[in-house]
Amino acid sequence: MKSHVRVAVIGGGVVGCSVLYHLTKYGWTDVVLIERSELTSGSTWHAAGGFHTLNADPNIAALQGYTIGLYEELEEISGQSCGLHHVGGLTIADSPERMDYLKAERAKHRHMGLDTRIVGPAEIAEISPITNTDGLLGALYDPLDGHLDPSGTTHAYAKAARVQGAEIVLRNRVLALNARGDGTWEVVTEQGTIVAENVVNAAGLWAREVGEMAGVFHPLHPMEHQYLVTDDIPEVYEREAELPHVIDPGGENYLRQEGRGLVIGFYEQACAPWAVDGTAWDFGHELLPDNLDRIGDSLEEAYHRYPVLERAGIKRIINGPFTFSPDGNPLVGPVPGRPGYWAACAVMAGFSQGGGVGKTLAEWMIEGEPSSDVFAMDVARFGDWCTRPYARVKVTENYQRRFAISYPNEELPAARPLHTTPAYGIWKAGRAVFGSAYGMEQVNYFAPEGAELYEIPSFRRSNAHGPVAEECRAVREAVGINEIHNFGKYEVTGPDAEVWLNRIMANRMPAEGRIALTPMLSPRGKLIGDLTVAKLGPERFQVTASYAAQAYHMRWFQAHLPDRGVALRNVSLERIGFQIAGPKARELLGRVTRSDVSTAALPFLGVRELEIGLVPAIVNRISYTGDLGYELYVEARHQVALYHALVEAGADLGLRPFGMRAMMSLRLEKSFGSWLREYKPDYTPAETGLDRFVSFQKNDFIGRPAAVAEKETGPERRLCTFVVEADDADVWADEPIWKDGEVVGFVTSGGYAHYVQKSVALGFLPVAMIEEGVRVEIEILGERRPATLIAEPLFDPKGERMRG
Ligand SMILES: Cc1cc2nc3c(=O)[nH]c(=O)nc-3n(C[C@H](O)[C@H](O)[C@H](O)COP(=O)(O)OP(=O)(O)OC[C@H]3O[C@@H](n4cnc5c(N)ncnc54)[C@H](O)[C@@H]3O)c2cc1C
Repeated sequence: MKSHVRVAVIGGGVVGCSVLYHLTKYGWTDVVLIERSELTSGSTWHAAGGFHTLNADPNIAALQGYTIGLYEELEEISGQSCGLHHVGGLTIADSPERMDYLKAERAKHRHMGLDTRIVGPAEIAEISPITNTDGLLGALYDPLDGHLDPSGTTHAYAKAARVQGAEIVLRNRVLALNARGDGTWEVVTEQGTIVAENVVNAAGLWAREVGEMAGVFHPLHPMEHQYLVTDDIPEVYEREAELPHVIDPGGENYLRQEGRGLVIGFYEQACAPWAVDGTAWDFGHELLPDNLDRIGDSLEEAYHRYPVLERAGIKRIINGPFTFSPDGNPLVGPVPGRPGYWAACAVMAGFSQGGGVGKTLAEWMIEGEPSSDVFAMDVARFGDWCTRPYARVKVTENYQRRFAISYPNEELPAARPLHTTPAYGIWKAGRAVFGSAYGMEQVNYFAPEGAELYEIPSFRRSNAHGPVAEECRAVREAVGINEIHNFGKYEVTGPDAEVWLNRIMANRMPAEGRIALTPMLSPRGKLIGDLTVAKLGPERFQVTASYAAQAYHMRWFQAHLPDRGVALRNVSLERIGFQIAGPKARELLGRVTRSDVSTAALPFLGVRELEIGLVPAIVNRISYTGDLGYELYVEARHQVALYHALVEAGADLGLRPFGMRAMMSLRLEKSFGSWLREYKPDYTPAETGLDRFVSFQKNDFIGRPAAVAEKETGPERRLCTFVVEADDADVWADEPIWKDGEVVGFVTSGGYAHYVQKSVALGFLPVAMIEEGVRVEIEILGERRPATLIAEPLFDPKGERMRG
């Protein structure tokens, strides 16, 4: 074993081997994989080997498509068979809601280039004659679905990596990880110590334990999972062609052919978290005891859906553990606060996702950033607030919901409330319906007396529609109040604060007392932030951004922070408050302070430190509603006092609280984009219109050369706003945009703009097609709806309200 390497990958399951392979594929050969036992000794050896492309996140679905396409390349390089069976697969629907879901998925696939299609019951019976189609409305057919040999595939990755120069050390447990002063890691193993510039935790079932060695808790948990292998079944082996996969989400099972019989696996409600207190180091190539009682109900359903099962004996029951993250997607990437330490764990579908995880991690490490937005699997989408019990509870919820319909307006109940602000009780008493982001409760809307205190999950307009319309009206016609705890907030101070901010932000930093909106760019000129910077003093700035991007942004900030001259603090939890917005916002503010808040004293994009009611506040004159508005930031202990001051002063002005649903509706009327919808690392400033906030005169900022190059050539596509002739369903995201019978673009987000009473979509079109009034069609739940491109925002196009 070498004494020094560029990368040490810990774990020889399918994920570690894929990471190793991809590092060599992109040119790094000074890499070693260290495996405790033999390859495949964790979850990998007992997997059912199924693969598919379906994933709620389009980029992860695309990476799953990449994984499936990779296997032939691997077989070629390694000479090792992956045992591929490309048999196609059906996901069946037994309710109108599930049919809506499948249609929405199919629509996304159109612009992703995936060749899926919706089929009816007769075609289901033709494709999979063993499926009882009673009660089925249809299915999504994916020709890419299939299965493989888990062990053969893992060895194919490993052999291909070796052919390309990697080293693999077996029967050698990693015992400790020690960070060295120079940013490298000491990897202490049973066979000696290696110094590695980068360490990758691909330890699967032991990822929690390896994380602890680096001082990190990774929010993941192993769950038991069972599948059955049947005896030979004539209806199966007498067919000429192999049967396709069938996923029956209503029955919580998946089924495929295995030799002359079938394999059927279950995601049961009575599921069992495994190894709650940690995975034992001596857990080997072993299975867990069967527990047919847990899947008894699911089996009954399966007998109904696949009657041949009733006549088949069970040859083998496999019960094995594998790991999930709280939202079911992998944890990948550089771990915040631990330079040189990377995660590639919580991969619950190693044979659908392993290739994509390996590719992403290798690109990130070697090239500095992945080639597409991977926030949905970025380890930084969770904060260090995740505890073991939180992970266990959320993972259990996720396992139980593995085959549940994911509604776009749905808020999942487990492990809540976790984080609340002092105003939580006030909102609750006011019949707030809450959502949660990055652990924090936030009001979605307020339910009227007598209405349900929850939003009914739906692909169509929900029971929140009416109340949200009222909240929007209050903002546009009087004044609304809403919490601003759901911004990430950072205090940047010190003699070099401005120089540093100018280096990492694309816009010029504002003058004292002013605010600048600014994109933050990656070296390739991609959007990695959409931030607001307020200059409070010569060496003092407040930076605000998306709340859920805190760990993501802090990782970037810290990676670029100089050793001295700049102090950075994440003050997201300690600096909270409210925004007030609407035509009467200034009058309200004037009533709670003795300071001058006229436009002359506090203009649009101005910032002041004022006493509001009884407490000191930072007042940003800006509002995401696009109306006259102010954000009032105070210390958390002052929030309730601020609330009472505003509410008492605003009662006769028609002050009314509003939630996130109203806020997202109001911003649509202004064509304002939103982080991870319109603004994310897949897009650039020129594509999204954020180039108006890029200071090309500034000589030096990260991403400048790419932004300048793009300015010269011009982007190929641009973000546009459309008014959609919708029915009872609006767009959410990723719907295809059609023109003349072809898919020409896609939606980034949208919804119902209540005040102007129009259904709105934001999305990308090729530049050549963009013209005011252009007619397109946007596919919503399988139906193409006429839509018209508009060139100006629907509300206050000149921005007079905002600036007035
Ligand atoms: C019953 C069952 C059915 C499944 N069916 C499917 C399916 O059909 N399709 C699909 O895609 N997925 C399926 N899965 C999930 C799949 O098995 C996992 O996604 C995959 O195996 C995860 O691989 P991994 O490499 O992340 O982890 P693991 O396979 O757990 O590998 C981790 C490796 O790290 C090594 N290691 C740990 N700690 C150390 C250390 N300190 N030093 C050195 N080495 C260490 C371990 O020995 C192990 O070999 C199934 C899982 C189960 C249990």
